[in-house]
Amino acid sequence: MPYTVPKLTDFSTGALDSAARELLSALEQESAAVSSENDWKVYRDRWMARKNGILTQLNDLWLKAAPGPNKRDVGQRVNELRETVTTKVEQRRTMAEAFDLARKMNVVTGLDAGSTATPRGTLRSPGESKFGPKAWVGDVRKLLLESEGLDITLPGIRRPIGAEHPVIKTMNEIVGVFRNLGYSVEEGPEIETDYYNFEALNFPPDHPARDTQDTLFIAGQESKPLRDRLLLRTHTSPVQIRTMQKMRPPVRIVIPGRVHRNDPPDASHSPMFHQVEGLAVDTNITFGDLKGTLDHAMKALFGASVKTHFRPSFFPFTEPSAEMFVSCFICGGEGRLRDGQGCRTCKLTGWIEILGCGMVDPNVYGFVDYDPSKVSGFAFGMGADRIALLKYGVDDIQLFFNGDVRFLEQFI
Ligand SMILES: [Zn+2]
Repeated sequence: MPYTVPKLTDFSTGALDSAARELLSALEQESAAVSSENDWKVYRDRWMARKNGILTQLNDLWLKAAPGPNKRDVGQRVNELRETVTTKVEQRRTMAEAFDLARKMNVVTGLDAGSTATPRGTLRSPGESKFGPKAWVGDVRKLLLESEGLDITLPGIRRPIGAEHPVIKTMNEIVGVFRNLGYSVEEGPEIETDYYNFEALNFPPDHPARDTQDTLFIAGQESKPLRDRLLLRTHTSPVQIRTMQKMRPPVRIVIPGRVHRNDPPDASHSPMFHQVEGLAVDTNITFGDLKGTLDHAMKALFGASVKTHFRPSFFPFTEPSAEMFVSCFICGGEGRLRDGQGCRTCKLTGWIEILGCGMVDPNVYGFVDYDPSKVSGFAFGMGADRIALLKYGVDDIQLFFNGDVRFLEQFI
Protein backbone atom coordinates (compact mmCIF):
# COMPACT_ATOMS: atom_id res chain seq x y z
CA MET A 1 0.00 0.00 0.00
CA PRO A 2 1.51 3.34 -0.96
CA TYR A 3 1.74 5.89 1.81
CA THR A 4 -1.17 8.33 2.27
CA VAL A 5 -1.20 11.29 4.64
CA PRO A 6 -3.47 10.38 7.58
CA LYS A 7 -6.08 12.79 8.92
CA LEU A 8 -4.95 13.68 12.42
CA THR A 9 -7.37 13.85 15.32
CA ASP A 10 -4.81 13.57 18.10
CA PHE A 11 -2.36 16.51 18.02
CA SER A 12 -0.28 15.53 21.05
CA THR A 13 3.51 15.43 20.74
CA GLY A 14 3.53 11.65 20.87
CA ALA A 15 0.95 11.35 18.08
CA LEU A 16 2.87 13.90 15.96
CA ASP A 17 6.13 11.98 16.51
CA SER A 18 4.63 8.77 15.31
CA ALA A 19 2.92 10.35 12.28
CA ALA A 20 6.20 12.07 11.29
CA ARG A 21 8.14 8.80 11.65
CA GLU A 22 5.71 7.03 9.38
CA LEU A 23 5.99 9.78 6.78
CA LEU A 24 9.82 9.81 6.84
CA SER A 25 10.02 6.08 6.49
CA ALA A 26 7.78 6.27 3.41
CA LEU A 27 10.03 9.03 2.03
CA GLU A 28 13.12 6.81 2.47
CA GLN A 29 11.50 3.80 0.87
CA GLU A 30 10.22 5.71 -2.16
CA SER A 31 13.50 7.51 -2.57
CA ALA A 32 15.45 4.25 -2.65
CA ALA A 33 13.24 3.00 -5.47
CA VAL A 34 14.10 5.95 -7.76
CA SER A 35 16.55 4.70 -10.38
CA SER A 36 16.03 6.98 -13.39
CA GLU A 37 15.24 10.57 -14.13
CA ASN A 38 11.70 9.62 -15.10
CA ASP A 39 11.22 7.86 -11.75
CA TRP A 40 12.59 10.94 -10.05
CA LYS A 41 10.09 13.28 -11.70
CA VAL A 42 7.18 11.11 -10.55
CA TYR A 43 8.71 10.96 -7.06
CA ARG A 44 9.24 14.74 -6.93
CA ASP A 45 5.68 15.45 -8.03
CA ARG A 46 4.19 13.00 -5.55
CA TRP A 47 5.94 14.74 -2.67
CA MET A 48 6.24 18.33 -3.78
CA ALA A 49 3.58 19.13 -6.39
CA ARG A 50 1.82 22.34 -5.46
CA LYS A 51 -1.51 20.72 -6.16
CA ASN A 52 -2.11 17.68 -3.94
CA GLY A 53 1.56 16.82 -3.31
CA ILE A 54 2.23 15.24 0.10
CA LEU A 55 3.66 18.51 1.46
CA THR A 56 0.51 20.35 0.41
CA GLN A 57 -1.63 17.68 2.04
CA LEU A 58 0.33 18.14 5.28
CA ASN A 59 -0.72 21.76 5.24
CA ASP A 60 -4.37 20.91 4.68
CA LEU A 61 -4.78 17.77 6.80
CA TRP A 62 -2.48 18.60 9.70
CA LEU A 63 -1.82 22.32 10.00
CA LYS A 64 -5.20 23.70 8.97
CA ALA A 65 -7.03 20.99 10.94
CA ALA A 66 -5.06 21.65 14.14
CA PRO A 67 -7.01 23.39 16.92
CA GLY A 68 -5.76 26.81 18.06
CA PRO A 69 -3.55 25.76 21.00
CA ASN A 70 -1.71 23.10 18.88
CA LYS A 71 -1.16 25.29 15.78
CA ARG A 72 2.31 26.39 16.80
CA ASP A 73 3.65 22.90 17.44
CA VAL A 74 2.09 21.45 14.33
CA GLY A 75 3.34 24.36 12.22
CA GLN A 76 6.90 23.82 13.42
CA ARG A 77 6.68 20.09 12.76
CA VAL A 78 5.29 20.61 9.24
CA ASN A 79 8.11 23.07 8.49
CA GLU A 80 10.77 20.58 9.61
CA LEU A 81 9.24 17.88 7.47
CA ARG A 82 9.08 20.21 4.48
CA GLU A 83 12.79 20.90 4.77
CA THR A 84 13.68 17.22 5.07
CA VAL A 85 11.51 16.24 2.13
CA THR A 86 12.86 19.04 -0.09
CA THR A 87 16.49 18.17 0.66
CA LYS A 88 15.95 14.46 0.17
CA VAL A 89 14.18 14.91 -3.17
CA GLU A 90 16.90 17.25 -4.45
CA GLN A 91 19.66 14.86 -3.37
CA ARG A 92 18.05 11.96 -5.11
CA ARG A 93 18.15 13.81 -8.41
CA THR A 94 21.95 13.40 -8.64
CA MET A 95 21.54 9.70 -8.07
CA ALA A 96 18.83 9.44 -10.71
CA GLU A 97 21.04 11.17 -13.26
CA ALA A 98 23.95 8.88 -12.44
CA PHE A 99 21.68 5.86 -12.91
CA ASP A 100 20.67 7.08 -16.35
CA LEU A 101 24.26 7.72 -17.36
CA ALA A 102 25.41 4.39 -16.08
CA ARG A 103 22.63 2.65 -17.97
CA LYS A 104 23.45 4.53 -21.15
CA MET A 105 27.11 3.63 -20.93
CA ASN A 106 26.38 0.12 -19.76
CA VAL A 107 28.93 0.18 -16.95
CA VAL A 108 26.88 -1.08 -14.06
CA THR A 109 25.45 -4.54 -13.54
CA GLY A 110 21.97 -5.33 -12.47
CA LEU A 111 20.28 -2.00 -13.27
CA ASP A 112 17.91 -3.40 -15.86
CA ALA A 113 16.57 -6.86 -15.51
CA GLY A 114 16.97 -8.79 -18.72
CA SER A 115 19.73 -6.58 -20.12
CA THR A 116 21.90 -8.71 -22.35
CA ALA A 117 24.68 -6.25 -23.05
CA THR A 118 28.00 -7.01 -21.42
CA PRO A 119 28.84 -4.57 -18.66
CA ARG A 120 32.18 -2.87 -19.12
CA GLY A 121 32.77 -2.07 -15.49
CA THR A 122 32.66 -3.95 -12.26
CA LEU A 123 30.57 -1.50 -10.25
CA ARG A 124 28.03 -2.86 -7.89
CA SER A 125 24.66 -1.24 -7.54
CA PRO A 126 24.60 1.82 -5.26
CA GLY A 127 23.15 0.04 -2.26
CA GLU A 128 26.06 -2.40 -2.21
CA SER A 129 28.72 0.27 -2.65
CA LYS A 130 31.26 0.10 0.16
CA PHE A 131 31.39 3.87 0.67
CA GLY A 132 27.73 4.71 0.28
CA PRO A 133 25.65 6.21 -2.54
CA LYS A 134 27.66 9.42 -2.85
CA ALA A 135 30.86 7.55 -3.58
CA TRP A 136 28.93 5.41 -6.02
CA VAL A 137 27.98 8.47 -8.11
CA GLY A 138 31.67 9.44 -8.24
CA ASP A 139 32.63 5.92 -9.29
CA VAL A 140 30.06 5.95 -12.09
CA ARG A 141 31.48 9.21 -13.42
CA LYS A 142 35.02 7.88 -13.32
CA LEU A 143 34.06 4.74 -15.19
CA LEU A 144 32.20 6.81 -17.75
CA LEU A 145 35.30 8.89 -18.45
CA GLU A 146 37.33 5.73 -18.94
CA SER A 147 34.76 4.09 -21.15
CA GLU A 148 34.58 7.19 -23.34
CA GLY A 149 38.29 6.86 -23.93
CA LEU A 150 39.00 10.18 -22.30
CA ASP A 151 42.55 10.57 -21.06
CA ILE A 152 42.55 13.41 -18.56
CA THR A 153 46.33 13.49 -18.51
CA LEU A 154 46.53 14.69 -22.14
CA PRO A 155 47.31 18.42 -22.48
CA GLY A 156 44.33 20.56 -23.55
CA ILE A 157 43.84 22.28 -26.89
CA ARG A 158 45.26 25.76 -26.79
CA ARG A 159 43.06 28.55 -28.09
CA PRO A 160 44.84 30.78 -30.57
CA ILE A 161 45.49 34.23 -29.14
CA GLY A 162 43.32 36.89 -30.80
CA ALA A 163 44.58 40.11 -32.32
CA GLU A 164 43.25 43.56 -33.09
CA HIS A 165 41.01 43.70 -36.14
CA PRO A 166 42.71 45.74 -38.90
CA VAL A 167 39.94 48.36 -38.80
CA ILE A 168 40.16 48.73 -35.01
CA LYS A 169 43.94 48.83 -35.26
CA THR A 170 43.69 51.65 -37.80
CA MET A 171 41.21 53.54 -35.62
CA ASN A 172 43.50 53.21 -32.63
CA GLU A 173 46.43 54.51 -34.67
CA ILE A 174 44.45 57.56 -35.81
CA VAL A 175 43.20 58.22 -32.28
CA GLY A 176 46.76 57.82 -30.98
CA VAL A 177 48.05 60.56 -33.27
CA PHE A 178 45.49 63.04 -31.93
CA ARG A 179 45.95 61.95 -28.32
CA ASN A 180 49.59 62.92 -28.69
CA LEU A 181 48.38 66.37 -29.71
CA GLY A 182 46.39 66.66 -26.47
CA TYR A 183 42.99 65.56 -27.76
CA SER A 184 40.78 63.47 -25.46
CA VAL A 185 38.57 60.59 -26.62
CA GLU A 186 34.78 60.89 -26.55
CA GLU A 187 32.14 58.32 -27.48
CA GLY A 188 28.37 58.39 -27.85
CA PRO A 189 25.31 56.23 -28.56
CA GLU A 190 24.90 54.45 -31.88
CA ILE A 191 21.13 54.85 -31.69
CA GLU A 192 20.55 58.57 -31.92
CA THR A 193 17.71 61.01 -32.21
CA ASP A 194 17.05 62.99 -35.35
CA TYR A 195 17.91 66.09 -33.29
CA TYR A 196 21.51 65.10 -32.54
CA ASN A 197 22.15 63.36 -35.84
CA PHE A 198 20.73 66.15 -38.08
CA GLU A 199 18.96 69.15 -36.58
CA ALA A 200 21.66 70.34 -34.18
CA LEU A 201 24.23 69.82 -36.91
CA ASN A 202 22.48 72.35 -39.09
CA PHE A 203 21.07 69.86 -41.59
CA PRO A 204 18.27 71.59 -43.49
CA PRO A 205 14.93 69.70 -43.33
CA ASP A 206 15.09 68.71 -47.00
CA HIS A 207 18.73 67.63 -46.98
CA PRO A 208 19.11 64.35 -48.91
CA ALA A 209 20.98 62.70 -46.01
CA ARG A 210 17.72 62.72 -44.03
CA ASP A 211 16.08 60.59 -46.67
CA THR A 212 15.32 56.99 -45.72
CA GLN A 213 17.37 56.09 -48.78
CA ASP A 214 20.45 56.98 -46.75
CA THR A 215 19.38 56.73 -43.13
CA LEU A 216 18.23 53.68 -41.20
CA PHE A 217 15.33 54.87 -39.04
CA ILE A 218 13.90 52.78 -36.21
CA ALA A 219 10.39 51.68 -37.27
CA GLY A 220 7.05 52.73 -35.79
CA GLN A 221 7.84 56.22 -34.53
CA GLU A 222 5.60 58.24 -36.80
CA SER A 223 3.65 59.55 -33.80
CA LYS A 224 6.76 61.21 -32.33
CA PRO A 225 7.89 64.69 -33.31
CA LEU A 226 10.63 64.49 -35.96
CA ARG A 227 13.41 65.63 -33.62
CA ASP A 228 12.75 62.75 -31.16
CA ARG A 229 12.64 59.96 -33.72
CA LEU A 230 15.36 57.34 -33.31
CA LEU A 231 17.77 56.32 -36.02
CA LEU A 232 21.12 54.60 -36.38
CA ARG A 233 23.61 57.43 -36.43
CA THR A 234 24.91 58.13 -39.92
CA HIS A 235 28.08 59.77 -38.63
CA THR A 236 29.89 60.26 -35.31
CA SER A 237 29.15 64.01 -35.41
CA PRO A 238 26.30 63.84 -32.82
CA VAL A 239 29.04 63.26 -30.24
CA GLN A 240 30.42 66.71 -31.09
CA ILE A 241 27.11 68.26 -30.04
CA ARG A 242 26.78 66.06 -26.94
CA THR A 243 30.30 67.00 -25.85
CA MET A 244 29.87 70.74 -26.42
CA GLN A 245 26.66 70.61 -24.40
CA LYS A 246 28.50 69.31 -21.36
CA MET A 247 31.88 71.03 -21.80
CA ARG A 248 32.83 74.70 -22.17
CA PRO A 249 35.64 75.70 -24.57
CA PRO A 250 38.49 74.96 -25.01
CA VAL A 251 37.42 71.61 -26.52
CA ARG A 252 39.78 69.22 -28.25
CA ILE A 253 38.26 65.82 -28.81
CA VAL A 254 38.59 62.85 -31.11
CA ILE A 255 35.60 60.55 -31.64
CA PRO A 256 36.02 56.99 -32.89
CA GLY A 257 32.86 54.95 -33.54
CA ARG A 258 30.60 52.76 -35.60
CA VAL A 259 28.06 54.36 -37.96
CA HIS A 260 25.32 53.03 -40.23
CA ARG A 261 23.87 53.94 -43.61
CA ASN A 262 21.41 52.31 -45.90
CA ASP A 263 24.08 51.34 -48.42
CA PRO A 264 23.87 47.92 -50.06
CA PRO A 265 27.14 46.08 -49.45
CA ASP A 266 29.68 46.03 -52.27
CA ALA A 267 33.46 46.23 -52.59
CA SER A 268 33.60 49.82 -51.33
CA HIS A 269 30.35 50.14 -49.32
CA SER A 270 29.08 48.55 -46.14
CA PRO A 271 25.86 49.39 -44.26
CA MET A 272 28.05 49.51 -41.12
CA PHE A 273 31.39 51.27 -41.07
CA HIS A 274 33.72 53.23 -38.80
CA GLN A 275 34.58 56.89 -38.50
CA VAL A 276 37.06 58.94 -36.57
CA GLU A 277 36.08 62.56 -36.12
CA GLY A 278 37.79 65.41 -34.42
CA LEU A 279 36.75 68.77 -33.05
CA ALA A 280 38.76 71.70 -31.74
CA VAL A 281 37.01 74.80 -30.39
CA ASP A 282 38.81 77.66 -28.66
CA THR A 283 39.44 81.36 -29.11
CA ASN A 284 41.17 82.37 -32.36
CA ILE A 285 41.26 79.00 -34.08
CA THR A 286 41.82 79.51 -37.79
CA PHE A 287 41.80 77.52 -41.00
CA GLY A 288 45.60 77.61 -40.74
CA ASP A 289 45.36 75.60 -37.50
CA LEU A 290 43.15 73.07 -39.25
CA LYS A 291 45.63 72.67 -42.11
CA GLY A 292 48.64 72.45 -39.82
CA THR A 293 47.01 69.91 -37.51
CA LEU A 294 45.78 67.63 -40.29
CA ASP A 295 49.03 67.87 -42.24
CA HIS A 296 50.91 66.77 -39.13
CA ALA A 297 48.43 63.93 -38.52
CA MET A 298 48.75 62.58 -42.07
CA LYS A 299 52.55 62.60 -41.88
CA ALA A 300 52.32 60.71 -38.58
CA LEU A 301 49.96 58.16 -40.14
CA PHE A 302 51.35 57.66 -43.63
CA GLY A 303 54.97 58.78 -43.40
CA ALA A 304 56.86 62.07 -43.28
CA SER A 305 57.03 62.41 -47.05
CA VAL A 306 53.26 62.62 -47.75
CA LYS A 307 51.89 65.96 -48.88
CA THR A 308 48.38 67.24 -48.22
CA HIS A 309 46.12 69.27 -50.41
CA PHE A 310 42.68 70.81 -49.80
CA ARG A 311 39.75 71.34 -52.17
CA PRO A 312 36.60 73.32 -51.39
CA SER A 313 33.58 71.21 -50.49
CA PHE A 314 30.24 71.44 -48.65
CA PHE A 315 29.02 70.04 -45.31
CA PRO A 316 26.01 71.47 -43.46
CA PHE A 317 27.90 71.85 -40.17
CA THR A 318 31.10 73.47 -41.41
CA GLU A 319 31.72 76.71 -43.29
CA PRO A 320 34.00 76.89 -45.19
CA SER A 321 34.36 73.16 -45.85
CA ALA A 322 37.05 71.19 -47.61
CA GLU A 323 38.06 67.74 -48.71
CA MET A 324 41.60 66.82 -47.89
CA PHE A 325 43.80 64.70 -50.14
CA VAL A 326 47.12 63.07 -49.36
CA SER A 327 49.73 62.33 -51.96
CA CYS A 328 49.47 58.65 -52.89
CA PHE A 329 51.69 56.62 -50.57
CA ILE A 330 51.72 53.69 -52.98
CA CYS A 331 53.17 55.44 -56.06
CA GLY A 332 54.69 58.39 -54.20
CA GLY A 333 52.25 60.79 -55.88
CA GLU A 334 53.43 59.89 -59.39
CA GLY A 335 50.21 58.16 -60.49
CA ARG A 336 52.38 55.38 -61.93
CA LEU A 337 54.21 52.53 -60.29
CA ARG A 338 57.91 51.90 -60.85
CA ASP A 339 57.26 49.39 -63.62
CA GLY A 340 55.30 52.04 -65.52
CA GLN A 341 51.87 50.55 -64.74
CA GLY A 342 49.11 52.95 -63.72
CA CYS A 343 48.52 53.17 -59.94
CA ARG A 344 45.12 51.76 -59.05
CA THR A 345 45.12 53.10 -55.51
CA CYS A 346 44.99 56.75 -56.58
CA LYS A 347 43.39 56.00 -59.96
CA LEU A 348 46.45 57.50 -61.69
CA THR A 349 45.92 60.94 -60.11
CA GLY A 350 48.69 60.81 -57.51
CA TRP A 351 46.21 61.93 -54.82
CA ILE A 352 43.92 60.06 -52.44
CA GLU A 353 40.89 61.70 -50.86
CA ILE A 354 41.15 60.98 -47.18
CA LEU A 355 38.80 63.16 -45.14
CA GLY A 356 36.26 65.96 -44.95
CA CYS A 357 36.84 69.00 -42.77
CA GLY A 358 36.04 72.64 -42.22
CA MET A 359 35.51 75.47 -39.76
CA VAL A 360 32.54 74.82 -37.44
CA ASP A 361 29.49 76.66 -38.81
CA PRO A 362 28.53 79.47 -36.37
CA ASN A 363 24.91 78.17 -36.49
CA VAL A 364 26.05 75.00 -34.71
CA TYR A 365 27.28 77.05 -31.73
CA GLY A 366 23.71 78.31 -31.32
CA PHE A 367 22.56 74.76 -30.45
CA VAL A 368 25.11 74.35 -27.65
CA ASP A 369 25.07 77.81 -26.14
CA TYR A 370 28.55 78.87 -27.28
CA ASP A 371 29.05 82.48 -28.34
CA PRO A 372 30.11 82.47 -32.02
CA SER A 373 31.58 85.96 -31.65
CA LYS A 374 34.03 84.64 -29.03
CA VAL A 375 34.96 81.13 -30.16
CA SER A 376 35.90 79.43 -33.38
CA GLY A 377 36.94 75.93 -34.25
CA PHE A 378 37.40 73.22 -36.81
CA ALA A 379 36.08 69.72 -37.29
CA PHE A 380 37.16 66.81 -39.45
CA GLY A 381 36.04 63.27 -40.10
CA MET A 382 37.45 60.26 -41.86
CA GLY A 383 36.40 56.69 -42.65
CA ALA A 384 38.59 54.31 -40.71
CA ASP A 385 37.65 51.37 -42.95
CA ARG A 386 38.64 53.27 -46.07
CA ILE A 387 41.98 54.17 -44.56
CA ALA A 388 42.51 50.55 -43.50
CA LEU A 389 41.75 49.45 -47.10
CA LEU A 390 44.35 51.87 -48.42
CA LYS A 391 46.92 51.10 -45.76
CA TYR A 392 46.76 47.32 -46.16
CA GLY A 393 46.13 47.28 -49.92
CA VAL A 394 42.80 45.42 -49.54
CA ASP A 395 40.38 45.93 -52.44
CA ASP A 396 37.08 44.76 -50.89
CA ILE A 397 35.66 46.25 -47.68
CA GLN A 398 33.44 43.17 -47.19
CA LEU A 399 36.53 41.11 -46.38
CA PHE A 400 36.88 43.11 -43.17
CA PHE A 401 33.45 42.06 -41.90
CA ASN A 402 33.03 38.48 -43.14
CA GLY A 403 34.81 37.15 -40.09
CA ASP A 404 37.08 34.82 -42.08
CA VAL A 405 40.03 34.14 -39.80
CA ARG A 406 42.26 33.17 -42.73
CA PHE A 407 41.90 36.72 -44.05
CA LEU A 408 42.16 38.46 -40.67
CA GLU A 409 45.22 36.60 -39.41
CA GLN A 410 47.32 38.14 -42.18
CA PHE A 411 47.27 41.39 -40.23
CA ILE A 412 48.59 40.07 -36.92
ZN1 LIG B 1 49.02 56.15 -56.54
